[in-house]
Amino acid sequence: MKFEVVVVGGGPAGALAARAAAKARAKTLLLERSPKRIPCCAGLVSPRTADRLGVPSHVVLREIRAVRVFSPQGRVVELRADEVKGLVLDRPRLDWWLREKAQESGVEIWTAEARGLEGGKLCTTKGLVDFEALVGADGVYSVVAREAGLPRPREVLVAVQAEVRAELKDTVEVHFGVAPDFFAWAVPGKEGIVKVGLATSFGRQAMPKLRDFLAKRFRGQEILGVRAGLIPVGPPERVASDRVVLTGNAAGQVKPLTGGGLAFLSRCAPLAGKAAAFGGNALQEYEEAWRKAVGEELAFQERARWLFLRLPSEALEELVQILANPKLAEVFSDFGDIDNFSALSAKILRRPGLWTTILPLARWLSQWEAP
Ligand SMILES: Cc1cc2nc3c(=O)[nH]c(=O)nc-3n(C[C@H](O)[C@H](O)[C@H](O)COP(=O)(O)OP(=O)(O)OC[C@H]3O[C@@H](n4cnc5c(N)ncnc54)[C@H](O)[C@@H]3O)c2cc1C
Repeated sequence: MKFEVVVVGGGPAGALAARAAAKARAKTLLLERSPKRIPCCAGLVSPRTADRLGVPSHVVLREIRAVRVFSPQGRVVELRADEVKGLVLDRPRLDWWLREKAQESGVEIWTAEARGLEGGKLCTTKGLVDFEALVGADGVYSVVAREAGLPRPREVLVAVQAEVRAELKDTVEVHFGVAPDFFAWAVPGKEGIVKVGLATSFGRQAMPKLRDFLAKRFRGQEILGVRAGLIPVGPPERVASDRVVLTGNAAGQVKPLTGGGLAFLSRCAPLAGKAAAFGGNALQEYEEAWRKAVGEELAFQERARWLFLRLPSEALEELVQILANPKLAEVFSDFGDIDNFSALSAKILRRPGLWTTILPLARWLSQWEAP
């Protein structure tokens, strides 16, 4: 069994990479060990990311126009826009649909698990597979990365998410002060269902913190189920070697501030697939290409997370108070973009009228040296 490109992992990154490889005329195989798996994801993306993925309407569950931000002490600010700022996607349907598109482009798909490399071939539950290039889209603890000697993402958060019988209509919630080093969220999903979750690097605290949060914010609402997942923060130093490239969670292509992965992977995974199809130097060039595509926003969000981790709870209190300023709310409404925090902060800084508003935050931030 010989393929030009083998992609391990049939999540969104793997399906997009495989489709790009097949479109570049490479004989491509996609391996997914559990195609019926229900991914642990809230499915929130920007309209731009949804466009880039090309999602059809049957994959969209909701349009989001507002975010409600809660401070550690429970102060609430709602930022609302007239236009749609986010879409909630049905993640299982998205994954099935993306794999279908890959298949239509000529990708062969097997339900099989990759176990490792043996004599330069990929050892799978369906036998040895020979390849010219291998794409690891198999998540944070990627077997492909391990076998290729590529490092892991720098930080891994444990995320837990419950499905709760409740309704939030077109609004998502962000709660500070619930998880020690991240935030908690509530994202409306199918009608009458809200996905309520949090992430933290203190894995053992994740479930108890979620339980407390549910009891406080969604007291008495029926909990339909709880799932756990991993969120990589900060890509590894290298995601490419002679015959291997990584993409998606395996490559830490995730927004460090929000944990959202679909925005970055929708740009990076097709680059990984194309690089694998071309082979040779293209694999090394991918390293530069994906960082060029998302590197600026990634670096901004890494710095912002570094600062967020050092903000005391009083500063978060003040931050939420600042968000209540109507002039700032107007900027959020006009330019708020869950994929592009760097552009939003540039817009704010370019308005001298807002400088006095954000001054208290600058006071907190000035206490630390930049990373
Ligand atoms: C609780 C939670 C909420 C989230 N919410 C959002 C959100 O609202 N918006 C957003 O953009 N992102 C969100 N994310 C992040 C997003 O889900 C991920 O970034 C995204 O799923 C990464 O896609 P991927 O294809 O790289 O990996 P995955 O989706 O993890 O897919 C990897 C696939 O590889 C398969 N696999 C693994 N190992 C092997 C093997 N050895 N052989 C064969 N197959 C294998 C797995 O079965 C899996 O299907 C969330 C994550 C979590 C945990």
